[in-house]
Amino acid sequence: MDTDRYRVKPGTTPTLKRWDPADDGGLDKAEGTKLLERERLELERLQEMLYVDGRHKLLVVLQAIDAGGKDGTIRAVFEGVNPQGVTVRSFKRPTDEELAHDYLWRAHQHVPQSGMLTIFNRSHYEDVLVVRVHGLVPEERWAKRYGHIKAFEQMLVDEGTTIRKFLLHISKDEQRIRQQERIDDPDKQWKFSKADLAEREHWDEYQAAFEAMIAKTSTPDAPWYVVPANRNWFRNLLVTTVLTETLRGLRLRYPPPEEGVTGLVVT
Ligand code: AMP
Ligand code: MG
Repeated sequence: MDTDRYRVKPGTTPTLKRWDPADDGGLDKAEGTKLLERERLELERLQEMLYVDGRHKLLVVLQAIDAGGKDGTIRAVFEGVNPQGVTVRSFKRPTDEELAHDYLWRAHQHVPQSGMLTIFNRSHYEDVLVVRVHGLVPEERWAKRYGHIKAFEQMLVDEGTTIRKFLLHISKDEQRIRQQERIDDPDKQWKFSKADLAEREHWDEYQAAFEAMIAKTSTPDAPWYVVPANRNWFRNLLVTTVLTETLRGLRLRYPPPEEGVTGLVVT
């Protein structure tokens, strides 16, 4: 699978129309699901290595419009990983305490420690998404945040964190179908809030905010991937594959044994 097609090249300003939300990478569902199983096993193995190796940290950022599939991605991609080495942080409406600090404060507290893989379900990017769409702070404040965020992430990278960012990209019609399902299915109603319909009215503004975000903050060390997400299996396969490629690139290893251990016989 050619993951590079979905990476946002630094210095470019692509529109989201470049990526078809229904893209299936030329695979059918059966093939895709088989590949996914293989990649998922590989992710399990590599995540264990990340933990044991203990020299690296991996931060995975997930952003999407309402019903874009963030929760489903986390469930499917990380199904088999060792919970000891993985943390998930969900970013909701900021608390009073969080609002009393700078907007990066709450994100910085939850970045991964050595050996850990941390998933941000929403992230500091909400501060240039929902905040921009609803004018929660004036433009002269949010406009500067792209620069802050790039510098913040570069600092994390320079100090040993690997960062991969995924924008789950669904079509407006797919959002309609998923929201309707949430309304109609008693087991899914808990996911739905009437405010989600009001948010849908801002579809175009969210797309514009996503485009500004990927154009201004995709860097060589902390790239954005636009993940076609109408098909869950393709979305899961692409995210998993990017992560296995990334972890393989770290050349993970078991720590060397204590001196004199090799050859010892237990009696
Ligand atoms: P959910 O992911 O459905 O639980 O919803 C979380 C809500 O929190 C979404 O409506 C987000 O837009 C909102 N949210 C997250 N971060 C921020 C933020 N920094 N400022 C305002 N709202 C936020
Ligand atoms: Mg929601």
